[in-house]
Amino acid sequence: MKTIAVLGSTGSIGTQTLEVARANGDLKIAALAAGRNIKLLEQQIREFSPRMVAVWEEESAKELKTAVADLDVKIVTGMEGLIEISTLPEVEILVTAIVGMIGIRPTIAAIKAGKNIALANKETLVTAGHIIMPLAKECGVKILPVDSEHSAIFQSLNGENPDRIAKLLITASGGPFRGRTAEELANVRVEDALKHPNWAMGQKITIDSATLVNKGLEVMEAKWLFGVDLDRIEVVVQPQSVIHSMVEFSDGAIIAELGTPDMKLPIQYALYYPDRRFLGGERLDFAKLGQITFEKPDTEVFLGLPLAYQASRAGGSMPTVFNAANERAVSKFLHRQISFTDIYRIIIECMEAHQIIRDPSVDEILAAEQATYELIESRW
Ligand code: NDP
Repeated sequence: MKTIAVLGSTGSIGTQTLEVARANGDLKIAALAAGRNIKLLEQQIREFSPRMVAVWEEESAKELKTAVADLDVKIVTGMEGLIEISTLPEVEILVTAIVGMIGIRPTIAAIKAGKNIALANKETLVTAGHIIMPLAKECGVKILPVDSEHSAIFQSLNGENPDRIAKLLITASGGPFRGRTAEELANVRVEDALKHPNWAMGQKITIDSATLVNKGLEVMEAKWLFGVDLDRIEVVVQPQSVIHSMVEFSDGAIIAELGTPDMKLPIQYALYYPDRRFLGGERLDFAKLGQITFEKPDTEVFLGLPLAYQASRAGGSMPTVFNAANERAVSKFLHRQISFTDIYRIIIECMEAHQIIRDPSVDEILAAEQATYELIESRW
């Protein structure tokens, strides 16, 4: 029986992780962490009996303590709480399904404590990949990708020599606005942006898919995870989301992972790696599918992708600024305070205003994040 802890258990990836645990019946959940959804967290505690639970705010902790007063569970708070549950002695795998840069410190603490990481929280690698990857190597821990594209690459690399990678081909659905012009994009509504054609995900990442910022973040994540430089990472639009990503090798062979879009597959693969467990659900039916089509991403209209390459090439603290600016801009868009294309404008202005810090420490990363938020609040 493997023992895991889940950061962000009430979110899209977190709940699906618990579904995987429920279906398999042989994962022990030692700890959970969530933000504000105390009702769902209470249900999860009653079902999975973790011995420790972290919530961010004291107020939520009070509410939760009252709700589970009849149970033997320790409730901790804040960053200290997140770190405490991430480093519990019995935890073998930490699932980082929390959203945002708040995941950096607990991930680092877990790696130092020798835990393998099932990594969904891409912001951790985008902003602190230069710290996380060497540390994981030094501590002999595995970073197991949960993002479907990175899991597809990870699966395609099974048994292969990483020195023989010619190219990583990251697939993209193109999002709900594929084919639109820049003018059409300016007037899209929140409801339309939240309609992803194939994947059911959290709100923030769904908007990121519509802007192609998510694809940009995935490119940056792939660079760190697989140690491949940006010039050898290509994005291919594949609107049916059947091919989850591919690797081209030095002999020209391309290996891909295909399937129906279901995040439980990469989550389960990370938790049981290198084993494959049964997973219920629809299977890919090629005859029914008929065709798989490909396009080049429209980088003139969907600036999320070229801006991400630019931020990643600039390096240092620039990816942090790209990510923080996007995070705040998406929140403003979801609150209907700015238009869809203002998201790009905010990212561009924040990147232009930033003085790059080379090889930033965690404190410097978090300071760059804060400075970006302050700049946005002062301007928009
Ligand atoms: P959601 O918004 O659905 O969930 C986020 C989770 O983080 C919730 O459980 C939330 O708690 C929790 N959380 C937020 N703030 C805090 C905090 N301060 N302390 C503790 N917990 C907190 O996000 P997703 O599941 O969509 O995404 C999670 C991560 O996985 C992101 O980095 C995303 O980019 C990545 N990812 C997601 C995919 C998907 O399919 N959804 C695919 C690939 C990667 P609460 O709700 O209780 O406030």
